[in-house]
Amino acid sequence: MMLQVKDLAKHYVLGEGLSSLFGLSQSQTIRAVDGINLSVQPGEVLGLVGESGCGKSTLARLLVGLEEPSEGEISFGGEDMARLRQKDRRAFHRQVQMVFQDPYGSLNPQHTILEIVSRPLIYQKTGLDKAGLRERAIEALSEAELLPAERYLSKFPHELSGGQRQRVCIARALVLKPDLIVADEPISMLDVSIKWGIVRLLKRLVEKRKIGLIYITHDLSSVPAVCDKLAIMYLGRIVESGPCREVFANPEHPYTQALLAATPNPNPDIVRERPIISGAIPSAANIPSGCRFHPRCPVAEPICTTDFPQSRGKGYHRTECHLAVHGKQELAAD
Ligand code: SF4
Repeated sequence: MMLQVKDLAKHYVLGEGLSSLFGLSQSQTIRAVDGINLSVQPGEVLGLVGESGCGKSTLARLLVGLEEPSEGEISFGGEDMARLRQKDRRAFHRQVQMVFQDPYGSLNPQHTILEIVSRPLIYQKTGLDKAGLRERAIEALSEAELLPAERYLSKFPHELSGGQRQRVCIARALVLKPDLIVADEPISMLDVSIKWGIVRLLKRLVEKRKIGLIYITHDLSSVPAVCDKLAIMYLGRIVESGPCREVFANPEHPYTQALLAATPNPNPDIVRERPIISGAIPSAANIPSGCRFHPRCPVAEPICTTDFPQSRGKGYHRTECHLAVHGKQELAAD
């Protein structure tokens, strides 16, 4: 197993000063991420989907070591990530790379493309000379399908389109030949005409290089083209996860059903009933009791307000929803 995450949580404690800044009366704990379990194999793509504010970017920062977990474990290649980073921080960052959402803000406007793409090699003290750095940059740009790569080396980010900049970001992540890439909303700031090119590129890279990819997005429509597995996040938790095709064919959690119903489907024969989800996502400083989706759930039962949904081991379920696990009749009998 390349990446294994067990019971991962990230909580931020706000002191009274900061709490009042956010309109809270006393010191508060923000539970940004809670009880996350997931795994990624080499050559596999895990899609992480949810509305903005659901904790997926915090999870991404935890996975690449930009944040320390409050609880739980992340292991990489069978080794605990915290120990791995302590032992050799550079080696860890060589294996795990991130592609950021904003291809405009994440590239230094004063650096050429050659400087941007070769910088991780310098930071990693690879000892390559100028010619070696150039060669590796050309290789990475070619893999990101910026061709001919030599033409881009002396350009500055402002001379490139949004799609080309995102390919430079991908080349910068590839230049160290990582085992895992975490791509945080890599297409959300791109035109529709360009975003499919980036999605297809990511898929090709995973297949060719056997990289693990965590593809974070709020846009479910791009998921089937790239993901093998899917995890749906709501208010810091994964509420449903499973093979991408299964989740799309038969979503079990009402939140997944609502997300899918709101996603345009190119097949006119597939018509999904649209459940009505009211209200906005609650604050992570004020997590609802029981099932945290209950204030918005169109099919909530009284038990949902008090009991955290858990499987009773009666068969396979991809979600912790009471109704998916126990069924309406059994809940009524309880
Ligand atoms: Fe809705 Fe209850 Fe299932 Fe939560 S546990 S999603 S509130 S039915």
